[in-house]
Amino acid sequence: MSVKVNEIFYSLQGEGFWTGTPMVFVRLSGCNLRCPFCDTDHAGYEELSADEVVLKALALAGDCRRICLTGGEPSLHADAALVTAFHEAGFHLHMETNGTRPLPAGIDWVTLSPKEDVPGLVGNGRVVLEQADELKLVFDGSLPEERLEYWREFPATWHFLQPCDVSDPARNREILRQTIAYIESHPSWRLSLQTHKTLGIR
Ligand code: SF4
Repeated sequence: MSVKVNEIFYSLQGEGFWTGTPMVFVRLSGCNLRCPFCDTDHAGYEELSADEVVLKALALAGDCRRICLTGGEPSLHADAALVTAFHEAGFHLHMETNGTRPLPAGIDWVTLSPKEDVPGLVGNGRVVLEQADELKLVFDGSLPEERLEYWREFPATWHFLQPCDVSDPARNREILRQTIAYIESHPSWRLSLQTHKTLGIR
């Protein structure tokens, strides 16, 4: 089966546990949800076989053997053949998902970014995954305490709050201040920042 690839690039992971770690990013096309703050360009893709995706990744990776499948929602297209092809090439395989769809077996690191509670969400954001390696929740100060508690108890090794990036710089500073204050008073959360944006990298 072919894979719909939006883009492949080599950079540093900007968010969450692996911040600062070099990875090849494979952005698969499309998403089953629409979030008001989404900054992903869903238009356009190239249909490639699993082996062709791996060859393109290898051409960029140098000595790096860490891949991040992202989107959009990568579970729409990532399948067992793609997982096997990356593993056979020696890659450690990460996936960033909204958690609304089952994942192929063998993903080495799952980042769940739930969108269930996003105001104005279009689509069914109900999370069906039962565990993840890290949970990364977008925070804008509007989520009720019981929902924050629900996600803090979700079975994941790491729980990150990430300030929502809006177009107003003053509002962004306020959201960051609120996020830090919340984490200080609920210390099982950690802060995730979109450092790739700060650094001006992809
Ligand atoms: S789940 Fe992610 S990719 Fe999909 S619309 Fe929301 S922010 Fe964009």
